[in-house]
Amino acid sequence: MTISQNALTVLERRYFIKDEKGKATETPEDLFHRVANAIAESDRKYDFGAPVEKTAETFFNMMTRLEFLPNSPTLMNAGRPLGQLSACFVLPVEDSMEDIFEAIKQAALIHKSGGGTGFSFSRLRPQGSTVNSTGGVASGPISFMKVFNMATEAVKQGGTRRGANMGILRIDHPDILDFIDCKANNNEINNFNISVGLTEVFMNAAEKNTDYELIDPHTKKPVKKLNARMVFDRIVDAAWRNGEPGIIFLDRLNRDNIVPSQGEIESTNPCGEQPLLPFESCNLGSVNLAQMLKEQDGKQQFDWDKLAVTVQNAVHFLDNVIDANKYPLEKIDQVTKQTRKIGLGVMGWADSLLRMGIPYNSDEAIALGEKVMRFITKCGREESAKLAEKRGAFPLFAESILPKDQPQRNGTITTIAPTGTLSIIADCSSGVEPVFGYVYIRNIMDGTEMLEVNPILKAELLKRGLYSDGLMKRIAKEGTIAHMKELPEDLRRVFVSAHDISPEYHIRMQAAFQKGTDNAVSKTVNFPKDAAREDVARVYSLAFRLVCKGVTIYRDGSRAEQVLNIGKVI
Ligand code: UDP
Repeated sequence: MTISQNALTVLERRYFIKDEKGKATETPEDLFHRVANAIAESDRKYDFGAPVEKTAETFFNMMTRLEFLPNSPTLMNAGRPLGQLSACFVLPVEDSMEDIFEAIKQAALIHKSGGGTGFSFSRLRPQGSTVNSTGGVASGPISFMKVFNMATEAVKQGGTRRGANMGILRIDHPDILDFIDCKANNNEINNFNISVGLTEVFMNAAEKNTDYELIDPHTKKPVKKLNARMVFDRIVDAAWRNGEPGIIFLDRLNRDNIVPSQGEIESTNPCGEQPLLPFESCNLGSVNLAQMLKEQDGKQQFDWDKLAVTVQNAVHFLDNVIDANKYPLEKIDQVTKQTRKIGLGVMGWADSLLRMGIPYNSDEAIALGEKVMRFITKCGREESAKLAEKRGAFPLFAESILPKDQPQRNGTITTIAPTGTLSIIADCSSGVEPVFGYVYIRNIMDGTEMLEVNPILKAELLKRGLYSDGLMKRIAKEGTIAHMKELPEDLRRVFVSAHDISPEYHIRMQAAFQKGTDNAVSKTVNFPKDAAREDVARVYSLAFRLVCKGVTIYRDGSRAEQVLNIGKVI
């Protein structure tokens, strides 16, 4: 197989099996054989109509061709003693000392195995309320988040990556104002992403500039009123300052809760794309759309047949992962197998637009994004229905809100993950994000730097005889080619980078993919450094109107250390 140098570096550092001296004992092919064989084994439990070896070969082929990759824990742990294969978990945090510290212990076990955890802290009584047993005062959700944070700091994920958390607080929790500002200093609670859980009641109050009630979760009684617009502006201000908190729309997550009988959805995984019930886990996987193209009439277009087959195999793969998985807790094993959710998504979206010559910030791209994602979910459901015929529907199907005419093996099919590392392995643009910069430097977590020149731009410039080192250096320095008048107009229009795209187009693209996605979409809306707070507020309102499930924003330069840098001279 052909694999980029960057991919090899990442695989060697974190994915390959190593000997006691720390030397990698696997090649990329070995790794994909290990994963394909381990996941195909689940077929033995059911009659799949094909020998297990055949399934393993299909899985191997789609991974080595970089058409589909499962989430990192599957690549790292499948076929190995640890065997924990999921990226996403949500744990409940109940309002008692025993339960809080039980959740910390459970999170530590999950982090150790390579997964990320999400929590809602909304059930914890507010700071200053009474503690019956001691007569003392409660320290509140934020003080406990700091304990979760410290525990995460101490546990390295299987010796590979540090744990990631999502912390959610409902907008009507009495400590909400402190929560909104709790990451004003980015060094605090640094192992958490935080999001405010918004309700429609709140959003309407903010629009009408009226008050809303804060409710003590312990007594269930209203304790105070706040002006909704004031609180909305506080969220906007904090996000404008350094990108946190994000927002999620709780009512929407619960409208898509397929089994309301099992309780409410109160949190997502760390990057926001996977809402889950307490103790549920989900494994993700991504189709590389840049590998789903074919030439037709002299132009690159989607190969819908290839995409359909890839989705079928991917759904089969991800359903097998649920059985092959070694869960960190018995309870998670049980709850996960009640709904059998999987999260199939995409990466390489921006790359495929570049190949097709369609600007990311165009109505054509928005319409095509929605079409692609609806197609993936449709094909995925058909495959899940086929699996249900042979393997049975997920156990809670009868009490789910899904249409009853077509039993499904999996409660949800699609989720769009950030594909932070998967996209490096597959050498494509991440998730549904635009290309951030065409020539840039990537800071890897351990402090080393990797240079990236976008191969699609490079090929196009070479073809037109325009490629030069000097030009590459200028692009690296300036971050975009949009204003380079000496380059052809069509190139400048198509090869847009994240900062050439207005925040509105970022949100419209997220909304387009959300329409075709069961779970949620991981997306960052990039703002230029000089964006105003009102620009952020406008994007939040637009996201609400366009039925997104949440928003994450980032204003350039607003954090001391950012993962990607544009405009940096090499
Ligand atoms: N995740 C994590 N730790 C990390 C990165 C990711 O726990 O350092 C989890 C988290 O739940 C996130 C999910 O993995 O939402 C998917 O992230 P991504 O797609 O970037 O992971 P990849 O599979 O590309 O490594």
